[in-house]
This record gives sequence, C-alpha cells and structure tokens, in this order.
Amino acid sequence: MSVQLTNRSKPVDRRPMNWVERMYLVNIFKGMAITLKHFFKKKPTVQYPEETRPFSKVFRGLHILNRDEEGRERCTACGLCAVACPAEAITMEAAERQEGEENLYREEKYAAKYEINMLRCIFCGYCEEACPKDAIYLSQTFTPSNYTRKGFIYKKEDLLIPNPLTDPEGFKKAQGEIQQAKETI
Ligand code: SF4
Ligand code: SF4
Repeated sequence: MSVQLTNRSKPVDRRPMNWVERMYLVNIFKGMAITLKHFFKKKPTVQYPEETRPFSKVFRGLHILNRDEEGRERCTACGLCAVACPAEAITMEAAERQEGEENLYREEKYAAKYEINMLRCIFCGYCEEACPKDAIYLSQTFTPSNYTRKGFIYKKEDLLIPNPLTDPEGFKKAQGEIQQAKETI
C-alpha cells in the first residue's frame, strides 16, 4: 500500500501513446509558445561589462584618498582609520612635512606610506566615519579582480584622487563621488 506524504502527487498516465502523440507536435508547439513568450519580454540580464547596472546609493566600494582644492593630500597619518578598522586592513607610516612641501601636504604630518588590503576589507565604512580630516571615502567603484594577492594591496598612489592642478576633470569627478559618500554616511 502506497502512503502519500503530500497531496501534491500526480498520477502518471501509462497508457500507450497514439500516433499523434508519438510525433510530439503538440509538445513542440507548446515549447515554442513558451520560448516566443519570453522572446518579447524585457531581459532581466545586462550585457556586462559593456552595460552596467547603477549601484545603490548606499553602496560602499573602493577607497579614495582625498585632496584639497590646491591638490594637497588631506591625510595626516593620525591612524584613526586603522584603529577603527575591524579587519585590520589599513597600514601606514607617518612622516614630517619638510620645508617647501607645503604644496604637497595639508598638515605638518602626512602618510609617507598608506596601504589597504582589499582582501581583508569588509567595506564597512568605519574608516571614513573615523577620519577627522575629510581624507578617506569609499567610492562607488568596486575592487577589480586580480590574479595575485599582491594586486589587492592598494597603495597611496592607487587611492589618491587626481590632482586638481593637473587633472581638474578627474578631481571634479572624484569630488562628486565623495559628495555622494558623504550623503550616505
Ligand atoms: S571599510 Fe571597514 S574593513 Fe575596509 S578598510 Fe575601512 S574600516 Fe577597514
Ligand atoms: S585617512 Fe584620516 S583617519 Fe586615516 S590616517 Fe589619514 S587623516 Fe587619519
């Protein structure tokens, strides 16, 4: 005696097929109708990477290090971002600004070395919240793939936004991203 576990069981039709059924024409047309129905529907997929979807406003991606309007680095190597980072992804080395370097660094102390390990980072945004100098933000760009672990360690040169004196367009674009990040903090 068979016991039914659910009421969704379907009795199987085991009678021999007639010649019309053996040609499978009805089933072929049924399948074609389903294909045709989907053919005219709006595609849920996009042709990545030529086409991309807009990110959510609160998306947190790759970090950027900010400069001021004169192109000077804002980071003063205070280390607050590294302390706030739960993944211990940030490392830096501080250095004293020398005479004549006022056009390069905004504060008397600056980050001679600044690195973020993107394999450790969980993109929580704590670093940008901790920064008192308006120096670090998470952009709307996601970290590109790489073949080596080393390639995921981003140095200061990789993170700094373009200098407004040499690339005003790039600086303006980066400021747009920073503004968007500020609105979502
Ligand atoms: S986003 Fe979070 S995990 Fe990534 S570096 Fe900043 S504080 Fe660390
Ligand atoms: S990014 Fe901000 S918090 Fe981090 S070291 Fe520089 S100034 Fe300090």
